[in-house]
Formats: sequence, structure tokens, C-alpha cells
Amino acid sequence: MRFPLALTAKIAAYIVGHKLKKTDKFATVLQLEPLHTCNLTCTGCGRIREYSTSLKDVMPLADCLQAPIECNAPMVSICGGEPLIYPQIEALTHGILNDQGRIVYLCTNGMFMRRKMRAYMAREFAKEPAKVEAWIAELTKQELMSEKDAAEVRKGPKDAAAPVMAPHPAFYWNVHLDGLEYTHDLIVEREGVFKECVLAMRMAKILGYQVATNTTIYKETDMKEVEDMYEFLSELGIDGHTISPGYDYDAAKKDMVERLNLQPENFFLTREMTREKFKDITDWMQRFTLFGTPVYFEFLAGLRELTCSAWAIPTRNIRGWKGPCYVMTDAKGHYATYQEMLAEVKWENYGVVNGEARDPRCSNCMMHCGYEPSAAIGRKENTKPGDLWKNIKFNFGPRPKPSGRGKTINAFNGVGSGKGHLTGPQRPPLNATSPASCSTASAPAEDAKPDAAELASR
Ligand code: SF4
Ligand code: SF4
Repeated sequence: MRFPLALTAKIAAYIVGHKLKKTDKFATVLQLEPLHTCNLTCTGCGRIREYSTSLKDVMPLADCLQAPIECNAPMVSICGGEPLIYPQIEALTHGILNDQGRIVYLCTNGMFMRRKMRAYMAREFAKEPAKVEAWIAELTKQELMSEKDAAEVRKGPKDAAAPVMAPHPAFYWNVHLDGLEYTHDLIVEREGVFKECVLAMRMAKILGYQVATNTTIYKETDMKEVEDMYEFLSELGIDGHTISPGYDYDAAKKDMVERLNLQPENFFLTREMTREKFKDITDWMQRFTLFGTPVYFEFLAGLRELTCSAWAIPTRNIRGWKGPCYVMTDAKGHYATYQEMLAEVKWENYGVVNGEARDPRCSNCMMHCGYEPSAAIGRKENTKPGDLWKNIKFNFGPRPKPSGRGKTINAFNGVGSGKGHLTGPQRPPLNATSPASCSTASAPAEDAKPDAAELASR
């Protein structure tokens, strides 16, 4: 199946329950941002810019654990910032997965994954050394682990009682990937990140984790490259992909002009451009394990309209419940509770209806955080005959098999092929045909800003 049966059934039962109760608005996925600190500075990231004055703050663990209970979403996407920097990320993930029984996507830039997985191996070593020795043999053979790291694993856990990031049927690593090596490293403004993501994902599959990727599409994105990336990832056995058009965050636009001397209109998509970029998505959804609904993909491809249901994917962060949505912050901005946000936000003022943007900031938005839930929960005004069956067939249907073409893709087409590039203010456009040859950064794989690395290792 495309998505594990137990998880699909859990979400379906939750939605049906609300439909039977005729609940007007409810949460399907919680975007939980325990912190906004990050070890990277990706071009176009709204988070690290909008919350630049509170990057050192973190949500207390108790508040993080309370947020899913409060909105009762069956799925929690732990994001940020980089959530693996959150000092109690293990306890947070464990609490939501095991104590609350929810599905967890941990959205990461991949740079600290291998470290967290070695901590899991160390704990397992204390219980089943033979199993861990077999893993070590395979990981060192595939150059996914050094002998030095293997020796550390064999020392066992620092604290046997402390939770670790362990594989779980309802847990996914969700790795940020916006293209193959050259493009991805350019967007994250740092060389070596793509390579580290691939090493971490390969290690995760050997250890039995479920792994997904998330990709944002920008104006300069070459969709043929994204298709190649999916072929490559299919060969690695990656379990699924989310894909969404980029949103032109005010803070990201300002940063782009001031720091990078780039014009935002050359980077972000209009609605027409999004439809052009996504015109083949209904074909891709048959060939690749895309997560989502066919109805949302038809919306992206311009084959139908949907109305925004931003209340279904609420965001909780350091400042409270962010209204009205994940990408936009309104005058009041943050609310004390999910219920307060539901009651006070004037939802009728947002989204695009019959081609008219109710708020100018919504005019180019087709993001999953507003429109995917409209498709998933089958809002009456968005439903066409056959939609329910289409969604069931898609999500309960077989998982697409790799075509084999992924083996022929040169994924390491950047610094791995000797084509380094300038990053930061001197970055060339994404579609530059002749990448700059000089390299300002060749960061070691798991390197990070010292404060972020220190936090993550706690
Ligand atoms: S890794 Fe994520 S949070 Fe960090 S800068 Fe990039 S997009 Fe933003
Ligand atoms: S259309 Fe987009 S920007 Fe507007 S409220 Fe919905 S999700 Fe937010």
C-alpha cells in the first residue's frame, strides 16, 4: 500500500467521526514548531526570518505535548527551525507517538539524523549486541558510518533510561530536499547538505525507519530535475514524498532583497505558474509514492478549484497558535488556544474563491497547508461525484514500484562532480547553466553552527 493501512485507517476514522458529528472545523495535522533555531539559512525560508528575534527561544516540553491534545489532530508534523536541535526532541517524539498514539512526521534538514540514529543504535547495543553488530557491518561497508562512530556505539547509551529516536510504524523522518545536489545545496546555501541527506536516508532505511521527503517548488525549479530526484529516491526505497508550491513570505522576500540582492518576483510562483509547473502531477502520482490526495493534485494541475481550510492544519509555536495559517500571520497573529483561534479568526476573509482572492496575500497561494485538507476532508463545496472513491483507491492502492531509471541519474551533480558554487549573497540563479567553479564552503558532512550543534547533541 502507498501508506500503511493502520495509519490510513486511523486518519479516515478520525475524519469520518467528525463528519458524522457535523463538526464545522477541526484539525487534521498539527504543525508543531518547538523552536525556530536552525543550522542552515535556506533561501526563501520564512521561518528563520519571521521569527528572527526569538531564535534562541524554545517551547517548554509540556506545552509541546499539550498542543496535539488540545487540537486532537491525528498527525503531528514536528518542524521548526530544525527540530533535531530541540533539546528534548526524543521525549517529545516519544510522548506524541507512544503516549498519545499519534502519527509523527519529523521534518528535518537531515544534518543531525545520523547522530540521532547512532544514539538509537547505542541503546540497542546494550540489549541486542548481535543485531547492532550486523548493522555496523553493513553501515561501515556502505561507508555510512566510520569505525570511530562504531566504537562509540559499542560503548552503549550515555543514559539507558533516556528516550531515543527509534523506528516506529507511525514515525517518519521527513527530509527537506528541493532538488539534486547542485540545486539543493544552492537553495540551502551550503555545500555538502544534499550528500549528508542521502547518507542519512540510506542509513535510516537499513535501520528500519520510514523515510519521506518534502519538496518546495519555486519559479526557478526545473520540474524535470524533480522528476529525476523522485526516480533516484525511489531506488533508495524512500517511502513517500510531499510536494508543495512555494509561498512568497513577506519576511523571506525582504531578506532576499537585502541579503541576497535577488528579486522575489523571480523566485516565487503565481497561480498560473504553479499550474504550469504541476501540469504532470497527476501522472507523477501514479509513478511515485506521493503523499496527499488526487483531488489536491488536480487542484495544483489547474483541473479544479478548492477553497482554503487553513484551520485544519494549525501551527503552534513559541508565540502561540498562529493565525490564520502556517504561512501568513495576521494582525493579532498568535492565539492562546486552538479554540480561541478557531473562534476569533475571520476565516471568511481568506483563500481564493471563484478566482477572487479574499485577501491579497492569498492570491498566489496553493499550498498544502490551506488546500490539501479541503481535499482530504471532502468539503461539500469542493466535492465532485467520485472524489471519495478516487481518494480511497489512491491511498489504499499499491505503492508504485521504482522504474529502474533512478540508477542512471547523476544525483551528485554539484560539489560531488566538482561543480561547486557560490552560496549566500553571491549565489548565481538556480537555472544558471554554468555553475560557478569556485567554492566558498565545503562543510564537513555533519558540521553545523557551534551553538546549534551543541544544542542538538544534548
Ligand atoms: S532547514 Fe528548514 S527551517 Fe532551516 S533554514 Fe532551511 S527551510 Fe528554514
Ligand atoms: S490561501 Fe494560503 S495564505 Fe491564504 S489563508 Fe489559506 S493557506 Fe493561508
